[in-house]
Amino acid sequence: MVVELISVGTELLLGNIVNTNAAYLAEKCAGLGLSCYYQTVVGDNRERLAGVMRTALERSDILILTGGLGPTQDDLTKETAADVWNRELKMDGHSLERIEAFFKERNLEMTDNNKKQALVPEGALVVDNDNGTAPGLILTEGEKRMILLPGPPNELKPMFENRIAPYLTGLENPLEPGIIFSRTVKICGMGESKVESLITDLENMENPTVAPYAKTGEVHLRVTARATDEKEAKRKVKPVVKELKSRFGSAVYTTEEEVSLEGAVVDLLLANELTVSTIESCTGGMLAARLINIPGVSEVFKSGYITYSNKAKRKIAGVKKGTLDKYGAVSPQTAKEMARGTALLTKADVTFSITGIAGPDGGSQEKPVGLVYMGCYVCGTTQVREFHFSGNRAKIRETAVSAALTMMRQCILEYYSQKTFGK
Ligand code: ATP
Repeated sequence: MVVELISVGTELLLGNIVNTNAAYLAEKCAGLGLSCYYQTVVGDNRERLAGVMRTALERSDILILTGGLGPTQDDLTKETAADVWNRELKMDGHSLERIEAFFKERNLEMTDNNKKQALVPEGALVVDNDNGTAPGLILTEGEKRMILLPGPPNELKPMFENRIAPYLTGLENPLEPGIIFSRTVKICGMGESKVESLITDLENMENPTVAPYAKTGEVHLRVTARATDEKEAKRKVKPVVKELKSRFGSAVYTTEEEVSLEGAVVDLLLANELTVSTIESCTGGMLAARLINIPGVSEVFKSGYITYSNKAKRKIAGVKKGTLDKYGAVSPQTAKEMARGTALLTKADVTFSITGIAGPDGGSQEKPVGLVYMGCYVCGTTQVREFHFSGNRAKIRETAVSAALTMMRQCILEYYSQKTFGK
């Protein structure tokens, strides 16, 4: 089945908002094993939108449209889809009730134009919106389908996960009926090309398929199988996931869809009853923020410091004046003293320091922009590593935080493997 994504909204065309919906849907569809050959962005204009729909219907089986389902005059997606397939719009009682309840629960006044959101093209399947007022709609004409979804990502994503993905999975496929199941093997601390070089033999497989996705500081390998039922699909996926785990060893931090790198680090800290503190310079608290994103982190997270100036590094972490004068703030010596000083100060089992040059100014031949030192203290021993990141200031800081999480995880794992060897 070929899917085509159409994002509707003049704000998108003008660059006022970034088309994150398309990225999200493209990735989800690939995960479901659906081919996506085209994506289009079109403004809130009836004729141009109708033109885009007609073109897409000629070359694709399923159109997924987002945006333009709101109550205002320039929200035209539903009306245009109805025009293209010559359908009348009818008031859907169920949707109207839900919209009325939505306003009542929030003590908001419902205006007449909100009723417009309960108008539904004849024959459409209505998909309830649990997080907003515009319902999703599925229209079918012969073998073709148009799926209309709300634009706000907090409405779109749960609707897609809970309702649309199962619908797409369950669609009858005359060649190979059944379901699609996938698992993701998430790898950190290894570049995309290195990962790909280790799976070249697996990339040509047809069922299951293995597809790499590069993320900042991570590579995800998605293993997707098609089968008549879930049990059979899982049976196909299992040995490939096992093989990948054995090839990549401890670089695999999870095979769970919902576990992030910071989530895996927090799990590791929790499992070993280790407390943690962070001390950051160029990343300005981003490492602490990613850890604190994880619910339950309060069990392990003690303190997070931002010591941007030399004075703060001295005052808070006790970095020696002599160290800063002799080696500079961006040096392995400073990173080490920051980590050790924070351990002394907070009595955490694990402490992590980051000091580097995020640019665009401040670099030199000896210490170029992108040079970052990180220190990780684990129960008495401190490791320091040197990194060279590229990109602009934001990219360098973001990549540094992913590398920090990877390094923290590696240091903890190394600490425990040495302890086990020593026994
Ligand atoms: P509403 O009922 O809120 O009007 P809608 O379905 O009509 O929703 P739009 O009006 O097109 O959707 O967009 C509403 C908001 O959703 C936008 O201002 C934007 O913040 C977000 N949004 C819309 N499309 C996208 C997209 N493709 N990617 C990311 N965000 C989007």
